[in-house]
Amino acid sequence: MESYLKRFMSERHFQLPEDRGMVVFSNDVLRHIYKYAQTDFWDCEAGGQLFSSTPEKPLVPISLATGPYRQDRRTRCGFHPDVRKATEDRIQLFSKGLHAVGLWHTHPEAWPTPSDCDRATTKDYLEAFQGDMDGFLLAILGNRGNPRNLTVWMAWTNHTQPWLLLPEIVAIARER
Ligand SMILES: [Zn+2]
Repeated sequence: MESYLKRFMSERHFQLPEDRGMVVFSNDVLRHIYKYAQTDFWDCEAGGQLFSSTPEKPLVPISLATGPYRQDRRTRCGFHPDVRKATEDRIQLFSKGLHAVGLWHTHPEAWPTPSDCDRATTKDYLEAFQGDMDGFLLAILGNRGNPRNLTVWMAWTNHTQPWLLLPEIVAIARER
């Protein structure tokens, strides 16, 4: 039980809508993403794709975060993944049983919210990507908080509904 709690505390959990379960960011994935937090003024936005081994399960583990790559277009206020590299990754990782379930990137703000540019980039990405899911995850890392603020949004591939902010589930460690 203690080791379960310890693991729970090092992972991060976000509630999916309509009893679909939870998205779980592993410690390794979080460590990779945290490295790119825009804590200095001149840091550029960074990002990449999120992959899961079992996206159909009630606990959707985020098994791997790819990127950033040199070919991405990165500025302080914009991130545009290199489409060719992203497609190569998806084909290669799919052969290893990993499914693309989302995108991640960083923002130079404490509590990150999607910009108009993010919505346009995501729409382009999803149009190029023939996924069989109706929902897609957007994770945005802020530059404050310990652990760093991470907001996770559900985008719908048919673009008919507004993006949904997924509530984070935080374990409370009880002192005895
Ligand atoms: Zn953004």
